[in-house]
Amino acid sequence: MTLLSFDDRDGFIWFNGKMVAWRDAKVHVLTHGLHYGSCVFEGVRVYNGKIFKLREHTERLINSGKLLGFDLPYSLEQLETATKETIAKQNIVNGYIRPVAWRGSEMMAVSAQRNKIHVAIASWEWPSYFSKEARERGLRLQMSKWARPAPNTIPTASKAAGLYMICTLSKHAAENEGFDDALMLDYRGFLAEATGANLFLIMDGKIHTPTPDCFLDGITRRTVMDLARARGIEVIERHIKPEELKNVQEVFLTGTAAEVTPIGQIGEQKFTVGSITKQLMVDYSLCVLQ
Ligand code: PMP
Repeated sequence: MTLLSFDDRDGFIWFNGKMVAWRDAKVHVLTHGLHYGSCVFEGVRVYNGKIFKLREHTERLINSGKLLGFDLPYSLEQLETATKETIAKQNIVNGYIRPVAWRGSEMMAVSAQRNKIHVAIASWEWPSYFSKEARERGLRLQMSKWARPAPNTIPTASKAAGLYMICTLSKHAAENEGFDDALMLDYRGFLAEATGANLFLIMDGKIHTPTPDCFLDGITRRTVMDLARARGIEVIERHIKPEELKNVQEVFLTGTAAEVTPIGQIGEQKFTVGSITKQLMVDYSLCVLQ
């Protein structure tokens, strides 16, 4: 299968305030963001031509930059307008938006006090993250050997590029052994999240989800917690040990890309795609269209 590489497509990318032809939206090899991980990004979805939770994603992008010690050179309103312009220019009806901000090239060492902050916003048509077949049977997750790091080792509340190094390692290891994704514990050994989505467990009709004190408190996570509560389902945030999985009836993941995705297996343990998961999949699919 030949891949349609992301650097070789038609269209336009918003790049530092201008619409640039897709293939010309380039950075130099000597870029601080590339060498030292000073880069933050977002993943946003477009449903039926409307951007879902644009305000929340834009605020998080700005905040992720602050957590890495830099201010984006555009206001919240400017970034929202730029995002809307990008999907209009690209004619995106159902798709994905990738805003990204990074330190440039003025200084190429650990210190980067004078580096310009660059911002780009790309978007493309993109209907689903996991395959329909995987979503129907429930994903198979492998336990990762990597742990989500402690909040005093890296800015864990940011959506920063460097935090994804262990996600790619975990996901590759899982895929190489026939799994769909990996589940990570945190630095204390509690259940944390998958490589790009938050974790929910159903035990005796109640939803339990790990406290996001060292990983991303997902926008989808918060939306789904509200949807569950609106249905009268109790949602409990707490530290959850992996041994507790034996008391779990249903498992699902949430994320901008993953939406609500059922889990059919974690390691050796199997789960069925149950009624609460199915209900929240429907509720979320309606919520994104509002
Ligand atoms: N955790 C990680 C590591 C992620 O990459 C994502 C996707 N952004 C999430 C959780 C879910 O966050 P959200 O619901 O805001 O997309």
